[in-house]
Amino acid sequence: MSKTIVILGAGLAGLPAAHYILKHLATKLDLKVLLVSPAEDYYWTLGTLRVVVPDQMGEDKIFYSIPKIFHKYPPANFEFVHGRAETWDPETNSVLVAMNDGTSRTINYHTIIVATGSSAKGGMPWKLVGDSSQTHAAIAKLRDQVKNAHSIVVGGAGATGVEFAGELGSAYAKTGEKTVTIITNESSVLENRMNGGLRKRTQKNLEKLKIKVITNTKVTNVTEDETGSTTVELTRSDGTVETVQTDLFVPTWGLSFNSDFAPADMRLPNGRLKVTETMQAHGYDNAFIVGDVADCEPGQIAYAEAQVKHVMKALEQYLSGGKMPKYIRNPMVGQLLSIGQDYGAGQMGNWQIWGWFAWYFKSRYLGTDYAPACANGERFVIFGSI
Ligand SMILES: Cc1cc2nc3c(=O)[nH]c(=O)nc-3n(C[C@H](O)[C@H](O)[C@H](O)COP(=O)(O)OP(=O)(O)OC[C@H]3O[C@@H](n4cnc5c(N)ncnc54)[C@H](O)[C@@H]3O)c2cc1C
Repeated sequence: MSKTIVILGAGLAGLPAAHYILKHLATKLDLKVLLVSPAEDYYWTLGTLRVVVPDQMGEDKIFYSIPKIFHKYPPANFEFVHGRAETWDPETNSVLVAMNDGTSRTINYHTIIVATGSSAKGGMPWKLVGDSSQTHAAIAKLRDQVKNAHSIVVGGAGATGVEFAGELGSAYAKTGEKTVTIITNESSVLENRMNGGLRKRTQKNLEKLKIKVITNTKVTNVTEDETGSTTVELTRSDGTVETVQTDLFVPTWGLSFNSDFAPADMRLPNGRLKVTETMQAHGYDNAFIVGDVADCEPGQIAYAEAQVKHVMKALEQYLSGGKMPKYIRNPMVGQLLSIGQDYGAGQMGNWQIWGWFAWYFKSRYLGTDYAPACANGERFVIFGSI
C-alpha cells in the first residue's frame, strides 16, 4: 500500500514540496501526496502590492489554479484537499480538515509536512485571506479604496510597507495626483537588521517619488468617521502626540503565523512552530515543518526554499529508515526590494546591491514573469529547477 504524505499549505514552501515529491519520488517509492489548502490557488504574494493599485497589474498574474496545475499527475499519486487543517494530532498521525464544502475529513498519514505560513493582519491581502474568493474580494476592496482616496497613509515601513508605498509613489505621488505618507517607529525605513546604507538609499528613493516619510513615530490609534475620513494618532519617540487626517490608512505591519491547528506545546508564544535542527517536530520524526511557520529563520522566500530543498533532498533517505541530516541555517541577510516601478534596492550579506540590478530583476515585473514556471513546478522561486 502506498504511503500517504500530507502537505499542509500550498504556498511558496508547500507547493514546490508537492511538485518535488511527485516529480522525483512518488512513483519510485509508491507515495500519495495529499495537498491541503483552503485556497484553490497558488498565490504570488510578491505581485499583490501592484495588483491592489488600480490599472497596474491583473489578478491573473498572481492566482494560479492548483487543481489545474496538478492535473498532470496521476490520481494514484496526488489529491488536492480543499480545506483547512483544524486539528493536528501527531500522536495518532492524523489531521482533521474543515473542508470548504462544509464537511469535515480526517486524514491519516505516514509523513506530514507543515507549511502553513503566515497571514497579514487586519484582513489585508498581502497574503491569502482565507480562500481564493475571499482574497479576490479583499483585493477588490483595497483597490477601490486606493482609487477613491486623495491622501493615503501607509502604516509600517518594513519591506511590505516600503514596496506598497513605492507602488503608490510611482502611480500617483510623483505626479502629485495623490499624497502618500509612510510611517515607521524606527529611525529609518526597513527593519534594523538591514544594512544602514540600504535603509538610507531606500528612504531617499521613496522621497524622490514625493512620498512623505515619518520616522521615530508610532501609530497609536486609527479611527474612521461616518464620512469615511480617517484620523491617525501618532506618538513621536519623545512622547508628543499629534493626529493626521487621511482618506485611507493601510496597515502593512505584523504577520500572524498559521498554526492554531497544532497542539499548544508545539507552538511558541509568537505562533511559530518549534522545530529541531533537522527541520522535524520535536518528538515526531515523521513531521517536518518548513517556511514562515517554522521557528527557524526570517520569513523570506530564500529561507523557506532552502528549508524545503533540505527536506526534499533527504526525504528518500528518511523514507528508507535513515536519519535526517542537520539543516544549516543561513546567517546572511539578503533582500531585493522594488520601490515602485521606478527604483530598486537590495542587500546581499553586507553588500548593497546595485539599484539598477534590483530594478531589472524585481521592480519591473515583481517576479510575475517567472511565477507561472514556479506554479507549474518547473523551478524554485529564487534558484534551481524542481
Ligand atoms: C507582500 C509581501 C511580499 C513579499 N515579497 C517577498 C520577496 O520579495 N522576497 C522574499 O524573500 N520574501 C517575500 N515575502 C515573504 C514570503 O511571501 C514568505 O516568506 C513566503 O510566502 C513563505 O512561504 P510559506 O509557504 O511558508 O507560507 P505562505 O506563502 O504564507 O503559504 C501558506 C499556505 O498555507 C495555507 N494555509 C494556511 N493555514 C492553513 C491551514 N490551517 N491548513 C492548511 N493550509 C493552510 C495557505 O492557504 C497558504 O497556501 C513577501 C511577503 C509579503 C507579505
